[in-house]
Amino acid sequence: MSGSVNLQIYDDIAKVTLTLRGGAAQAAYVTTAANGCAAARPMPAMRQTHLTFTASSTMDIKAPIPDTHGLDNRAARHQSREEATNPAFPEDLFSYDTVSSSPARCLYTIAELDEFIRAAPTATFQGYLSLLIVEVNLVDCFNRHTLLSGACCHAPVHANALTATCKRCNEQVSLRLNPLILGQVVDETAAIEAGGLLLSDRAWRDFLGRGPEALLDLDAGGLKQIADRLVFCRLTTVFGWTPDQSRAGGRICVMRFRS
Ligand SMILES: [Zn+2]
Repeated sequence: MSGSVNLQIYDDIAKVTLTLRGGAAQAAYVTTAANGCAAARPMPAMRQTHLTFTASSTMDIKAPIPDTHGLDNRAARHQSREEATNPAFPEDLFSYDTVSSSPARCLYTIAELDEFIRAAPTATFQGYLSLLIVEVNLVDCFNRHTLLSGACCHAPVHANALTATCKRCNEQVSLRLNPLILGQVVDETAAIEAGGLLLSDRAWRDFLGRGPEALLDLDAGGLKQIADRLVFCRLTTVFGWTPDQSRAGGRICVMRFRS
């Protein structure tokens, strides 16, 4: 084996790539565990994830601890999220009316939600999260022509338009607002990286104050104004969580934002 080896390392909230070069890449343990998971716990709310290793660092791959199974599930979730670019919002799985009219209203922190999912990996959850918006990527997405996204022929399709032509089959594809528009969000316990939330059409309207058609009428200056207004806003989020990876690609589903 020569060259470098990339290890994808996941924890509850983020993914980092650890590149091993030279002698480290040739170490026997790497060849047997290149698909393994390791526990890496970045500080919550950091803008970027960093890992530091020194000559004396030891990293256990597939460590025999109970958390390993949960981390494996998370790795699968990250994978399915990358494959499911922008799935349709699973409206039928959740009920906004049930959450908002229930006598028992559950306000979770991100860390608590993570613990509940870890404890009951097959359960569906609905409730509230109170999230601070750290990044809004409207201008970035506009410049990259990725304001809306979808998928066709197992490939992502992006455009600054409501529909686009699939380059593989030439069919018209309906697009939805790109989950990556909403960048990192945090609360006092943890962070959710860009793309970790899947918004319903209604939640997008709550968030941006307009529908996708009106958004597409704006230029970069208009989009920047919206982004500047939203950054560091705190939003009460009515969310649902489904363990079914095929429905939401392992994202937290946002039914509504309430300010
Ligand atoms: Zn296609």
